[in-house]
Amino acid sequence: MTSPLSSPADAPTSFRPDEGFARELDRSDPLGRFAEEFEIPRAADIAHPEGPAAAGDERSIYLCGNSLGCMPRRARALVQRELDDWARLGVEAHLHGQSPWLPYHEQLRGPLGRLVGAHDHEVVAMNSLTVNLHLLMISFYRPTPDRYRIVIEDSAFPSDSYAVQSQAALHARSVGFDPASAIIRLTPRVGEYHLRTEDVLRVLEEHSASIALVMLGGVNYLTGQFMDIPVITAAGRRLGCVVGWDLAHAAGNVPLRLHDWDVDWAAWCSYKYLNAGPGAVAGAFVHDRHLRDPSLPRLAGWWGNDPATRFRMGPDFVPVPRADAWALSNPPILSMAPLVASLELFDRAGMEALRRKSLTLTAYFEWWIDRLNGQNPVRTIRILTPRDSAQRGCHLSLELPGRGRDAMDALRRAGVVCDFREPNVIRMAPVPLYNSFMDVYRAAQVLARL
Ligand SMILES: *Cc1c(COP(=O)(O)O)cnc(C)c1O
Repeated sequence: MTSPLSSPADAPTSFRPDEGFARELDRSDPLGRFAEEFEIPRAADIAHPEGPAAAGDERSIYLCGNSLGCMPRRARALVQRELDDWARLGVEAHLHGQSPWLPYHEQLRGPLGRLVGAHDHEVVAMNSLTVNLHLLMISFYRPTPDRYRIVIEDSAFPSDSYAVQSQAALHARSVGFDPASAIIRLTPRVGEYHLRTEDVLRVLEEHSASIALVMLGGVNYLTGQFMDIPVITAAGRRLGCVVGWDLAHAAGNVPLRLHDWDVDWAAWCSYKYLNAGPGAVAGAFVHDRHLRDPSLPRLAGWWGNDPATRFRMGPDFVPVPRADAWALSNPPILSMAPLVASLELFDRAGMEALRRKSLTLTAYFEWWIDRLNGQNPVRTIRILTPRDSAQRGCHLSLELPGRGRDAMDALRRAGVVCDFREPNVIRMAPVPLYNSFMDVYRAAQVLARL
């Protein structure tokens, strides 16, 4: 099986600094028309978000799809359709709406499966990300007195840290282990920002007898590092660990083949690269080999029951042999509608084409930063994301000279939307679905002025 990290990046190696060059790249971009499918906030609104609407129609340079993706235009119509059906039909819309609510979530299986490289029955849209991490750990973190540890990255998103610590605490007393020693946090080598795959594998081997679960971010939220999912998964499983992935920053950002990579389980949110709106319904993957395992403990609810018997309203849970078995409640239709709108766009564009553009777009951005640094060697911008494009998604994490928060505010006033993470990291994400090469060009001009 080939690792995505071993495939050569096909980004061009020579860029030019003139505006015409960016326009040329945009003209030859087969995905350029997708920007029209999105509402991109206006620069004037971004510059003064608290004030009255200012004049000016110019779009902002929205480089924050890693935090909250822009709104697909069709989301409005799809949400409106559900409101209309609710108004017109009430409870009857479950069966007789334009897109009946009872099977509403089923239309997401195909697009989600294609997005993460899974079979339809291995994916489900439900809940939110941290909830799904917990639900899946109830099934897949089954500590024993000897094997009870969970491996995460030291730079894991705080919610992930809390989730694994509380899962360990949940079992510690009844199983009999010390929760204080339950979490292994992977740190880069001294002086380095990223984890080397060989170092991850060494830790797994050293502690394999005590590791129950490996749960890493597919793309690290802080550094943007794209981990070698197939290699780490294979090593972890060979050593007898369960391997799950948090794909919050990977889903919709990098091509994934979860089924072929033999990943045990994964979870992701949908409001970042998947553009499904604030608090959107998240996603989960459970590998086929676990779907018929009756020994798996799980928290059950009626939406995980086999739909064939669900409405007999019997007392005993019969899990459906699909990832849906982890669903608890009937899903929130109004917040699923934007996800339907967004995943249609991913299906039309295709992850492979998006990745091709993404490699070039981010390489162009990186080239600009190197160029600015060459022009101003005193106040350089440090790139914290791996330089090897195969080891990153679209976003670059930057350390700007001075206080990151001030820089972010200045960028915002200039119409560039990005985000800031403690201690001093600015993340800028040119996303291939709605960002253009001109966006990167203009962002570079703003950075140069700052
Ligand atoms: C964004 C993000 C979260 C957020 O969790 P929610 O439950 O959706 O609020 C958690 N983990 C990671 C790695 C993230 O990037």
